[in-house]
Amino acid sequence: MAAARPHHIARRLLEMERGVALCDACLALTCGTSLTAMRSVTEALVRSGGEFERTTPCESGRRTVPSPRHTAETTKCSQCRLPCEAGDGGVLIEGERFHARCLLSVITDETIRLSRSLSERSRELIEQSRRRLRRTGYSWMPLDSGP
Ligand SMILES: [Zn+2]
Ligand SMILES: [Zn+2]
Repeated sequence: MAAARPHHIARRLLEMERGVALCDACLALTCGTSLTAMRSVTEALVRSGGEFERTTPCESGRRTVPSPRHTAETTKCSQCRLPCEAGDGGVLIEGERFHARCLLSVITDETIRLSRSLSERSRELIEQSRRRLRRTGYSWMPLDSGP
């Protein structure tokens, strides 16, 4: 297949830059292929099932075009499954990422069932946080100030 090589490079690149969106034009430039060729490569990547998605803007050229990125597990909130964006980077617990607000609701609402994907270790950490919260209140929470 003629597109095998750019396909391979583009995939590697997006896997290395997890969570970073790179548009077809930037990828084509990096992989030394044409924009048309790269477009079909990224189409295939996005369609291949779950691992890649399109988002805007491109984080390299800042062009507001749909740009593929690797949907790294760690960029998604373990509670609500929505991506944590640059402005709301969330809180990382043992490789599990949470929006600050989601973590707060996980910790404060005992009735919320923890995500099944959470490791035992993460459940333990959250249990610890709950105990600490009961003792010390909310002030320790690493909430970002801002809108
Ligand atoms: Zn770009
Ligand atoms: Zn969330």
